[in-house]
Amino acid sequence: MKYLIIGSGAAGISAVKEILKTRDENDQITVITKEDYPFYYRPRLIEYLSGEVDEEEIIINDKEWFENNGINLKLSERVTEVDFENKKVISDKSIYSYDKLLLANGAHSFKPPIKGANKKNVFTLRDLSDAKKITNICQNAEKAVVVGGGLLGVESASNIKKSGLEVTVVERTEWCLNKQLDEKGGKLLIEILEREKGLNFILDATTEEFLGDDKVESVLMGDGDKLNTDLVLLSTGVRSNTELFEDTDLEIKRAVDVNEYMETNLEDVYAAGDIAEYNGNFYGIWLPSMKMGQTAGKNMAGERQGFPGVVSSHTLKVAGVNVVSAGNLDPDNELDHEIVEKERGYKRVIRDKDGKAVGLIIVGQFEDQDNLLAEVKS
Ligand SMILES: Cc1cc2nc3c(=O)[nH]c(=O)nc-3n(C[C@H](O)[C@H](O)[C@H](O)COP(=O)(O)OP(=O)(O)OC[C@H]3O[C@@H](n4cnc5c(N)ncnc54)[C@H](O)[C@@H]3O)c2cc1C
Repeated sequence: MKYLIIGSGAAGISAVKEILKTRDENDQITVITKEDYPFYYRPRLIEYLSGEVDEEEIIINDKEWFENNGINLKLSERVTEVDFENKKVISDKSIYSYDKLLLANGAHSFKPPIKGANKKNVFTLRDLSDAKKITNICQNAEKAVVVGGGLLGVESASNIKKSGLEVTVVERTEWCLNKQLDEKGGKLLIEILEREKGLNFILDATTEEFLGDDKVESVLMGDGDKLNTDLVLLSTGVRSNTELFEDTDLEIKRAVDVNEYMETNLEDVYAAGDIAEYNGNFYGIWLPSMKMGQTAGKNMAGERQGFPGVVSSHTLKVAGVNVVSAGNLDPDNELDHEIVEKERGYKRVIRDKDGKAVGLIIVGQFEDQDNLLAEVKS
């Protein structure tokens, strides 16, 4: 059996690890990635920004691991076309045939159509090569602006700050992490980050243009203010890399549509991770990507096992501040909400009609966090 996997991230390699479990000597496994690095822990790119970890430390499986497992790893090779009808994958270096294909080619950072976004020193952060470019510029920079106050934006801002720069986060809404936190939680987090970590926030604000001759020198805000800066990091969401499959019969909604076995609408073609959506859910995070990859791998190797699903859950230190966001946050306010506020702490427990905790928001430290999280996930 010829297994071909496009993408060497959490989804692709989790699938490979499942295929390896039942592999026989006739099975060939090929993994193609456009990046120069084998499988690494993408979320730790944030720590790479502040120099807390180096390249070696974020690699999960190195080239040797692929060699030892007899996997044909193609680094620095970009897939340019997939011919599903003839079961062929075309890259900028070669043409491959397959029996079973996994699309695990992830997502890219969305670049909003802001004037000047193509100037030098305006970055997005998706892979190790982006992180390297940003850290290089940070070495001789004094000021940075991060556009977008989501999880990734705030974490990146905090780590750029650690390398000594003055950092301002510009957020379009009234509080940060608005996918994970409610207004009170988000505003408390901002207060702590401003007071204790020295980050600056400009909220409810729009970015009009990046100004400068060749490279960015300032950010023109919607209200006419100008923020001087040496670099800009755009952190305004991700989009699945579906453009590779345009003009094919592959069914794409927001992302590639898969069933519980991670099968697409095309025979012998599977998809998992940030390229895929299941049941209308696009996860865009690590754990579901791994689980989708495992499910795809099992089914590609002949087992019949459905995706176990995941309760969306974040337990993080955002710039050193404990933040939890898990389960059903009940945006329409249909359930019971129990709120506890204290100095430097905020907790919202969302309970169903039987009193069971089904959602949780925490900023700061609360002793019952672990029990509540276990209840939400049960
Ligand atoms: C900076 C950062 C921080 C993050 N922090 C967190 C976090 O704290 N918690 C969390 O849960 N999630 C986090 N995420 C999200 C998480 O990393 C992703 O959800 C996860 O990596 C998705 O895995 P994937 O395998 O689907 O895709 P990816 O990891 O994006 O892998 C895609 C693979 O496809 C390859 N590829 C793409 N296009 C082509 C092509 N045309 N040809 C060949 N190869 C191609 C790429 O080279 C790569 O190997 C973070 C992401 C980033 C960028």
